[in-house]
Amino acid sequence: MDAAGQAREQKKQELLQELAELMVEEQIEEGVFLNTPHYSMIERTAVTLGRRLSCEVQQRAAREVAANSPAACPCPTCGTSCDVHVDQRQVRSVDGPVELTESVAYCPECRRCFFPSAIGHGTG
Ligand SMILES: [Zn+2]
Repeated sequence: MDAAGQAREQKKQELLQELAELMVEEQIEEGVFLNTPHYSMIERTAVTLGRRLSCEVQQRAAREVAANSPAACPCPTCGTSCDVHVDQRQVRSVDGPVELTESVAYCPECRRCFFPSAIGHGTG
């Protein structure tokens, strides 16, 4: 791992520790530790935070994919060059709802939309 990669890894670790601290602070305020909590309660809070993080990462990664889309793309059916625009839609990921940003193209010849990012990836 290069220096930039190590710095990123360290930053991620610091942010994860900070998130863990914030979660425990919140639980202290809620009185969770006034008595010894059942471990499942601690685990459930941790999993909930993990799922929120997962949804954030998915949304951010989808925006990156959309940002890297070309302005125009050939229709996979007829080859007509079609303008690509960015659209948003809500999807349910395994970790919860995600607001997906994705590039979409409409072919006026075939009168159908297609997803340029899915071409050649076996999805969509
Ligand atoms: Zn077409």
